Amino acid sequence: MDCLFCSIAAGDIPAKIIDSDDVSVAFLDIEPFQDGHTLVISRKHVTSVLDDDGELARISPMVTKVARRLVDSLGASGVNIMSNAGEVAGQSVHHLHIHVIPRYDREPGISAIRSTMPRRPIEEVAAIVTGDPHRK
Ligand code: 5GP
Ligand code: ZN
Repeated sequence: MDCLFCSIAAGDIPAKIIDSDDVSVAFLDIEPFQDGHTLVISRKHVTSVLDDDGELARISPMVTKVARRLVDSLGASGVNIMSNAGEVAGQSVHHLHIHVIPRYDREPGISAIRSTMPRRPIEEVAAIVTGDPHRK
């Protein structure tokens, strides 16, 4: 099947992967709303949260783990956690994913979730979150 996120999970398309386990993969979003914006995906191909009863629960430990790690490593003060299901909701990649968006005191509030400020280079953020200064 031709699916971008299945290809990232399989390692066929590169991504800034920050964590993974048997059921999920977490990687930095290529167009971050805020620095450290991460997607947690299921390894199993599921179209969205509407498409499967159990997959959201299976990947939720990774969502919590990644949220805490982003807050601790990047100095965020909170997170927004969101999943778009269906094109009407803004879903553009039709493979289940949870957006974990770190939030910073300089841009608080739900209306400021998508920043207009310039973002830090994704390589720099990957190095900070993984603790690996040589991370590309
Ligand atoms: P959706 O709009 O479906 O809720 O979210 C899809 C997300 O995937 C978007 O935030 C978009 O920036 C991200 N995205 C799309 N293509 C790629 C890619 O090739 N690599 C990465 N890391 N993120 C991607
Ligand atoms: Zn897929």
